Amino acid sequence: MNKFSIGVDLGGTNLRIAAVDEQGKLVEKVTLGTKVSLGRDHVIDDMCDAIQRMSEKFKDSAALLGIGIGVPGIIDMQTGLLRESPNLPGWANYPVHAEIERRLKTVVILENDANVAALGETWLGAARDFSDVAMFTLGTGVGGGLILGGTIWRGANGMAGEFGHITVEPEGQLCGCGNRGCLEQYASATAVVRMAREAVAGTSGLALARAANSDSEFSAKSIYNLAIQGDEDARRIFRHVGRYLGVVLASMVNSLNLPIYLIGGGASSAWDAFSPSIFEELRRRSFVYAATAPPDPTAANEGASAHLAAVSSRKTIITRALLGSDAGLYGAARLPMLPEANR
Ligand SMILES: [Zn+2]
Repeated sequence: MNKFSIGVDLGGTNLRIAAVDEQGKLVEKVTLGTKVSLGRDHVIDDMCDAIQRMSEKFKDSAALLGIGIGVPGIIDMQTGLLRESPNLPGWANYPVHAEIERRLKTVVILENDANVAALGETWLGAARDFSDVAMFTLGTGVGGGLILGGTIWRGANGMAGEFGHITVEPEGQLCGCGNRGCLEQYASATAVVRMAREAVAGTSGLALARAANSDSEFSAKSIYNLAIQGDEDARRIFRHVGRYLGVVLASMVNSLNLPIYLIGGGASSAWDAFSPSIFEELRRRSFVYAATAPPDPTAANEGASAHLAAVSSRKTIITRALLGSDAGLYGAARLPMLPEANR
């Protein structure tokens, strides 16, 4: 490789760092725990040490273009301050960007984690060859990223793409953002577990009760396993998830008319259980979708030739993301490779 950059995924639980070359080849990856409880200086020290080690390792064979870091939370792009981050308590209004750049003495670009995931999928994943893409990341919460003309659309204040906080139930569940009835309260792993608990309270769903009993991402997976085994209560929960996603997607398709919308994040592994309801809602609620739907929406994007056909079909593609948890790493590494105007 001639040139490479380092992508960082700074999550509330894991800190992952990768060296990626300009062709998108992942040259090396390390995963460390994010020791949030030891405080932000400790986390930043750990991160900078690991980045330093990695850049030392390759510096004789290739040029380092810079470092991209995906961070959970809202970043003020002008000041480099982290405005709000539920997963990194104590980091609000801390000059993360300046601090890291000072330690590493190279170009550092901070970006919201859902935005970098969307950029990664646009570069190398399910939306490669597309330049206008919206992506939902379903995890503990629901993140969103919007790519327009190949560039992350940040909006006037860097806060665009918060699809998880679109209202789907005006008087619904209270959300961490202060609103009621946000999509996040109905389509995240956390929401799947809450809906399972509610179902258990109303009936005697013993299997569901057992499945709902640990941390949210893991429990959502057990509830999904029940759904594929045919448990009707579990299946109903995922139909709800798909329905709410479909409601939001219908409005997005009507307002943006993008060629492709991706669903990624850990909870998207339940795609088979919730996607039929997405397409049902879309056909019912969006005339733009009805006019532009591929003949078999669920088959879209399978295989290279299908992918090319999708790009040239001018149909509205709604499909699963491809890169899993690496999407954010690739997207973060991509940032320093882009011309400054497109970052
Ligand atoms: Zn909200």
